[in-house]
Amino acid sequence: MRAALDEAEEFPWDIVRDLANADMFRVFLPEEYEGLGGGCLDLCLVVEELSRICSAVAVTYAASALGSLPLLEYGTEEQKRKYLPDIASGKKLAAFALTEATAGSDAIAIKTTADRGNGGYVLNGTKQFITNGGEAELYTVIALTDKKKGARGASAFLVEKDTPGFSFGKKEKKMGIRASATRELVFRDCLVPEANLIGREGMGFIMTMKILDRSRPGIGAQAIGLAQGALEAAVNYAEQRVQFGKPIISLPVVQDKLANMATELEAARALVYAVARAIDGGAKSFTEESAMAKVFASDMAMKVATDAVQILGGVGYMRDYPVEKMMRDAKIMQIYEGTNEILRMAIAIELRKRKAARE
Ligand SMILES: Cc1cc2nc3c(=O)[nH]c(=O)nc-3n(C[C@H](O)[C@H](O)[C@H](O)COP(=O)(O)OP(=O)(O)OC[C@H]3O[C@@H](n4cnc5c(N)ncnc54)[C@H](O)[C@@H]3O)c2cc1C
Repeated sequence: MRAALDEAEEFPWDIVRDLANADMFRVFLPEEYEGLGGGCLDLCLVVEELSRICSAVAVTYAASALGSLPLLEYGTEEQKRKYLPDIASGKKLAAFALTEATAGSDAIAIKTTADRGNGGYVLNGTKQFITNGGEAELYTVIALTDKKKGARGASAFLVEKDTPGFSFGKKEKKMGIRASATRELVFRDCLVPEANLIGREGMGFIMTMKILDRSRPGIGAQAIGLAQGALEAAVNYAEQRVQFGKPIISLPVVQDKLANMATELEAARALVYAVARAIDGGAKSFTEESAMAKVFASDMAMKVATDAVQILGGVGYMRDYPVEKMMRDAKIMQIYEGTNEILRMAIAIELRKRKAARE
């Protein structure tokens, strides 16, 4: 099924409905909003298991969690009661929209504006590469309420899919996670009620940075799930494939690869679970640990998936076997929610802050 959805680049609605029926969207939301009261680790475990089979499904699920985090962390009681139960039941998917054509790593360069007027905020601009775009019902959108204030001039808004002036642009054709939806969001004089401002005006970027710190372990979980799936496929194949009269798993070079794949996977899993547990334990600051978990796990997944293809040899390169898709899917994990280059810079900044604090 994953291969068929990937080939057709078809959004996995049937699987999303199955996940909803299995109460999976409730996992990461508090009980008072019809969730199951789980935390970051629970969310990571679900994402990991989904990604073991299909990272496109995993990112669809994780992006809904990301889209709901601003409401959860900064929303009013009224906003939470209005929107979170539908996300918990899986009736509505959420999405998070920051990136624009001219603002990727340099997120502060966004141009989408939200001007006060007509009893609310009027949004104008285009968001790019938004996961769940077109499929989600609820969008957290970051837009400038004061162009002159730079990083302190952005705010977050909850925009419902059917709001007049809100439409969808280009649907991306991707290398991997092809069953997930990645789409432009277009706002043309889109009036969003004042009640849909999340947090206070000017908090948009600070909120985004804090939310991404919380959600990056989820990318780490996608990566470890994918690597687990690739490792399992490689071991299975190496047991069965006979060359020179014996299964290739008996060759030291193959054993060496498998051992390194398994060891690096476990190291990444330990990092991801450790930061998820720290978040659940109420840690105040985890920018560095969260970035480390995402960077290490995604680099590991890219390597493990590539090695899995190598162990399968020629058939590993064919679409008949899942490792070909896993190798394509792994790449995005080094790119989204902060490229690994940007996150390494963030880790280095934290190291310098720590040094300064010691002095
Ligand atoms: C499939 C997919 C799904 C996505 N989903 C979402 C979503 O749901 N919501 C959302 O808001 N965004 C989403 N994004 C956007 C994603 O987060 C950005 O693509 C990512 O942050 C990188 O931005 P960019 O693509 O503009 O690359 P750029 O910022 O243009 O970077 C290009 C290259 O330059 C490097 N680079 C840039 N600046 C520096 C620097 N200062 N120092 C060193 N290296 C640097 C980068 O590391 C990278 O290698 C998605 C993207 C994709 C591809």
